[in-house]
Amino acid sequence: VRDSDKNSDRNREENATTDTNPNQPHYLMWFRRDLRLHDNTALTALCERAQSDNAKASALFFFTPEQWQSHDTSLAQVDHIARTLPKLAQSLTKQLNIPLTVYVCENFKDCNDLIIETYAAQNITQVMANHEYEGHEIVRDEQLIKRLAQHNIEFLRFHDQCILPPQSITTNDDSMYQVFTPFYKKWRHTLDIGLIESYQAQAVKDNKNSNQNTQDSNGLLELTQITASASSAETIKTLGEKVVKDYQLCLQDAGIVGSNESTTQLSHARAAYPAGEVAACHRLDQFIADGINNYNVSRDVPSLHATSQLSAYLTIGTISARHCYIQATKALQDNSDNKDINRWISELAWRDFYRHVLADKPALIRHQAYKDDMDKSINWSYNQDDFDAWCVGQTGVPLVDAAMRCLNATGFMHNRLRMVTAMFLTKDLLIDWRWGERYFMQQLIDGDFASNNGGWQWSASTGTDAAPYFRIMNPFSQAKSHDPDAEFIKTWLPELQELPANILHAEDKLRAALTTGSLFNLIDYPVPRVDHKAARLLAIAAFKN
Ligand code: FAD
Repeated sequence: VRDSDKNSDRNREENATTDTNPNQPHYLMWFRRDLRLHDNTALTALCERAQSDNAKASALFFFTPEQWQSHDTSLAQVDHIARTLPKLAQSLTKQLNIPLTVYVCENFKDCNDLIIETYAAQNITQVMANHEYEGHEIVRDEQLIKRLAQHNIEFLRFHDQCILPPQSITTNDDSMYQVFTPFYKKWRHTLDIGLIESYQAQAVKDNKNSNQNTQDSNGLLELTQITASASSAETIKTLGEKVVKDYQLCLQDAGIVGSNESTTQLSHARAAYPAGEVAACHRLDQFIADGINNYNVSRDVPSLHATSQLSAYLTIGTISARHCYIQATKALQDNSDNKDINRWISELAWRDFYRHVLADKPALIRHQAYKDDMDKSINWSYNQDDFDAWCVGQTGVPLVDAAMRCLNATGFMHNRLRMVTAMFLTKDLLIDWRWGERYFMQQLIDGDFASNNGGWQWSASTGTDAAPYFRIMNPFSQAKSHDPDAEFIKTWLPELQELPANILHAEDKLRAALTTGSLFNLIDYPVPRVDHKAARLLAIAAFKN
């Protein structure tokens, strides 16, 4: 303990008696996609400053149903957030002495209004949050900065979502890399030579700021934009459950989810993804201690479940990518050539890469292609029947259908299968990648604009470092390589149980089995919707033109 710390401790004790002072500054943490205490940049800064300035500290989070719908946020993800918040509230109070209030505000404008109207009146002098890089979020923040400035309130934002912040890894002429490999080399080199810090927030002592702003309410605050608020873990839980139910009904009314399907998906997600940072960190520790062995090879085999399954946590920020990187590099210490760990770190780099790309080109959020000319010159199909068959897993291509049914039932799809299904939609069916991108967001528990957009544009050959247009995955040979015994296929397509893998892996044999074979009357499964070889040639011609 340094002397200056001792002094400031003494000052703090003396100042503790002044906590009723109406002029005492008040700092506010706005949680967004960073629902954790560990390694949270803005939260750490808030605690440090509150402590050194003897300020009060509180935190808020907004449920924004209207905004979610316009962003195509999946029900599984909203439910995951709702399950996480009571845990966050509990650990914030217990460990950091900071109360959390959760509001239901329909959209971003209402959130900003609430901060101005409610908190500006309470002597708030600083609002802190971590950066979000999506276009609407940037506009929201810029508007808030201006409005807060009129009240002499600072809005401090911190880079937190990436391991290295956007714009920190650039080419020699200071522009964003177009290709992943050189980006990755520089990213890795930067991390190898620099020290990467993990942030640990310290409790705010003498924070007498317990829920000064609201009682749990249903409009009690008389602010039209709030439909409800809650501030104890128990009431946050109840509020979250109500919000999830309402959102489910809203998605059902809009025809986006069916009631049975969404209920199945929710119960799967709840069992597969226990909420909160303790669960997320535990999953990381187990993966690094054991699950990562052989990752370099088995990561491509869907039936093995050999990947970390951390994406749902990373997306809502119950674990930080930095923490994942730090833990992985610790495991590398005596073993720097370990292919499995190095490969996993490179996947974390892909996540950074797509966020850097988004921050560099915010127009992507309007679903504009990275290679816009290429995109505009393709005569994309908008065939609803083809699209519907793809969505429900009835294309007649076993690996594609198994993957889509897995997505619909669980809210998750393996990375290799995301590539196979996205390529099938955009190349074999030549359907506009934006339709697939949107459908994935509506279903995925880990739906994340930057990674999803990046993955879709990679598959459609319209993105940065995209698959060359002539390299089109054959979904039958992909099945043969990555699901050799058809174990994954048969898990999700029980109607194909009786067909051996060598038939499921060959389009012509499957076609024959489904039209003339001895079982054809007994198997309720469509013949392949397109002839892959012919569809491939059409796609190549469309791109070549
Ligand atoms: P692991 O293999 O354990 O990897 C660890 C972490 O690295 C992941 O959790 C993820 O954060 C990151 N990562 C891994 N691969 C990629 C990648 N290709 N691009 C970006 N980050 C990656 N990922 C999402 O998080 N949200 C999405 O909405 C999303 N949509 C995708 C859409 C398409 C068409 C494609 C091809 C990929 C998409 N991905 C998305 C990337 C990838 O499929 C998932 O991150 C991965 O399957 C998650 O499983 P995991 O956590 O077990 O991954």
